[in-house]
Amino acid sequence: MISCVLFNSRFILAPSSTKIHDHEQLHVFFVPFMSPGHQIDMARIFASRGVKATILTTPLNISRFESTINRDDYHHHNPIKLLLLNFPSTAANLPPNCENLDAIPSRDLSYNFSKAIMMLQPQADDLVRQCQPDAIISDMNFPWTAEIARKYGIPRLVFRGTCCFSLSLSVAAAQHKPNVNVSSDTETFLVPGLPRPVYITQSQMPDQFFGNTDLQEFFEKFIKAERNSYGVVANTFFEIEPDYVKHYEKVTGKVVYPVGPVSLFNTKAIDIAERKRRRQRESNSVLYVCFGSLYEFAESQLLEIALGLESSNICFIWVIKSDAFLLLDKDFEERVKDRELIIKGWAPQVLILNHPAVGGFMTHCGWNSVLESVSSGVPMITWPLFAEQFYNGNFVLTHWKIGVGVGVESGLAWGEEEKIGVLVRRDRVEKVVSQFMINGGEEVEGMRKRASKLSELAKIAVSKGGSSYVNVGLLIDDLLNQKVERLSKKKETVDQFV
Ligand code: UDP
Repeated sequence: MISCVLFNSRFILAPSSTKIHDHEQLHVFFVPFMSPGHQIDMARIFASRGVKATILTTPLNISRFESTINRDDYHHHNPIKLLLLNFPSTAANLPPNCENLDAIPSRDLSYNFSKAIMMLQPQADDLVRQCQPDAIISDMNFPWTAEIARKYGIPRLVFRGTCCFSLSLSVAAAQHKPNVNVSSDTETFLVPGLPRPVYITQSQMPDQFFGNTDLQEFFEKFIKAERNSYGVVANTFFEIEPDYVKHYEKVTGKVVYPVGPVSLFNTKAIDIAERKRRRQRESNSVLYVCFGSLYEFAESQLLEIALGLESSNICFIWVIKSDAFLLLDKDFEERVKDRELIIKGWAPQVLILNHPAVGGFMTHCGWNSVLESVSSGVPMITWPLFAEQFYNGNFVLTHWKIGVGVGVESGLAWGEEEKIGVLVRRDRVEKVVSQFMINGGEEVEGMRKRASKLSELAKIAVSKGGSSYVNVGLLIDDLLNQKVERLSKKKETVDQFV
């Protein structure tokens, strides 16, 4: 198994098997974004490999994952340390208890949320000064970690929670601006400068998502901070997109460490669920429907989805944030009670996707969801909504060919759900779902086979000797080498004065 970073001669000289500095324990600060993602799993992976891992986050976010961390096997001999950042809700004019992106009551407050994040810098600076970690692995939403890292002379790596295909596409679109001469938002154009031809439309570009928000000022900071970072750690794996991992390394000039799918670190939970499982449904007979943690459709759209699912006659598990739309059709649940499970709030997505009865995932194409689907070998019905989700969806459909599109063409502005109303009507939902789950024939069978192959590759990537496993080792060795270099330089300087 060859990892992309092996192409970099620096690493050929120091492969992960060379335990040069076993006596040294590496200390890494992890600064995860406050949204449901997988950066906590990153810290867990590093801790399981002997790294001293410290997570910086706010009190309410700690309560979300503390029990998961405490359950880990390695925890009793190498515990993850949690350090608190007090979230400045009042100073940023946010209501209390809004320490996570999925908890802010209105998208109009996203500017205040980003401002609050910027205000955390002095506290984090203080913690770095006191604890003297050897490196920071930070979500891109904390650009100030780059300044802190530079101030204390340690490397900062930026965590990217999306695939190198979407990252490369964003870079190429920003660089070549192929959209400037198009005559309409829905005209298809080629994005040049990528390993393969990729076609998109203006309305699928992530800019739509931010509507009238003022978030642009923050994005410029993110980009600058990434430029000033040592490297990129990405929740993807080399085999799923080798050309794009190499391409992203080339265009950014940064070393990229694909270490995912990090959700596969939870295999213990999956194993437990597997043992408890009673098989009540046939294999591949259930559609799982979930649109991530951030977006909520208008009630009218939810009703169209409900009625489309009903008339498709399939079994489904559907995760919704609010069940208010059920009042629009009070008998719906009664009519479908034998073949639905509606989960209000939060569902154990990774466990559901790994159940053999689940044969399809209707998804908004958030990268975590796509990668979890791939890891479970489940093909998708893609319904991208915003941000880079159209890019991820594009990759699912055109590159891996493991899904069908529901037929949405344009991205949405965050927070304008009610204004947008219905995008996909019930008959379209019914048609796509029945075609995919019941009448798919060889076409869907082919998607299942390809998804299953990718799932095998994902599992190999994270197991001992696999590319992601090796990349974690290479990164640890690299950071240890830098630590030793720093310490010896410091010693030389001290020696000159004594
Ligand atoms: N998720 C979950 N249960 C839910 C909704 C979401 O476990 O009911 C998890 C999902 O497994 C994924 C993450 O939340 O890991 C969502 O991330 P993604 O990138 O797919 O979308 P986002 O929520 O950022 O739009």
